[in-house]
Amino acid sequence: MSQTRLVAIEQDILAKNDSFAAVNRQLFAAKGVFVLNLMSSPGSGKTTLLTRTLTDLKGRFPVAVIEGDQQTSFDADRIRATGTPAIQVNTGKGCHLDAQMVTQAVGRLPVADESVLFIENVGNLVCPAGFDLGEAHKVVVLSVTEGEDKPLKYPAMFASADLLIVNKVDLLPHLTFDVARMIDYARRLKPSLEVIELSATGGQGLDRWYAWIEAGLAKAKGARKG
Ligand code: MG
Ligand code: ZN
Repeated sequence: MSQTRLVAIEQDILAKNDSFAAVNRQLFAAKGVFVLNLMSSPGSGKTTLLTRTLTDLKGRFPVAVIEGDQQTSFDADRIRATGTPAIQVNTGKGCHLDAQMVTQAVGRLPVADESVLFIENVGNLVCPAGFDLGEAHKVVVLSVTEGEDKPLKYPAMFASADLLIVNKVDLLPHLTFDVARMIDYARRLKPSLEVIELSATGGQGLDRWYAWIEAGLAKAKGARKG
C-alpha cells in the first residue's frame, strides 16, 4: 500500500472517531456527566487507583466505569466488586479504545444524570492519546517505578493529558526516581498540565485527587443547568 493511501485511511479513521466522540460529548453534557479517560502503561496501578477511589467516594455521587483491555474481564470484575456498575470492552488485537466503543458501552451501562464516568483505557502510552472518546479530560497515570524519561519517550500522551497522576509515591524512599525532573519533562510538552502525587495503596495525596474529581463534577452539573 502506498504511503498516501495509508495516510488517507488514517485520516478516515480519525474523522469517524471524532464524529462519535462529538455524539458522546453531547450526551455527557446533556446529562451533566463528568467523564475521565484514564491512560497509562500496563502496571501503573490504574485499576488499583480506581477501585480505591470508588470505595472511598462511595455514596457521594453516582459512578459508572468502562474498562478497556485487550483480553479478560479481570479488571471489570475488580470494579464490580466495589458495587459500581462496569462494562468490560475487550479490544482483541486493538490497543486502544475508540469513541464508537464508548458509544456502544454507554448504551449498555446505567450512566446516571450528574454522575462521574471513568473510562480506563487499554494500558498503552502510544495510540490512546490520538483517540478522543468524548471525555472532559484525559488523565495520564505514571508510577514512580517506571522511567522518569517516559514523558520524553511518549510525548503525544503527555501533551494530550490535562492531569498527570504520579502514583506509588510511598515507594520513593527505595528508588532513585526524580519526580521534579519527570514533571519538568512533562510540562515541556504541556505547560498547563496539572499534577497530583499520590499513593493508591498508602493513601497519600488521595484527598487532592478526590477534590479534583468533585470540582469537575460540579462544573459538569453547572454547565448542564446553565
Ligand atoms: Mg487495569
Ligand atoms: Zn491502538
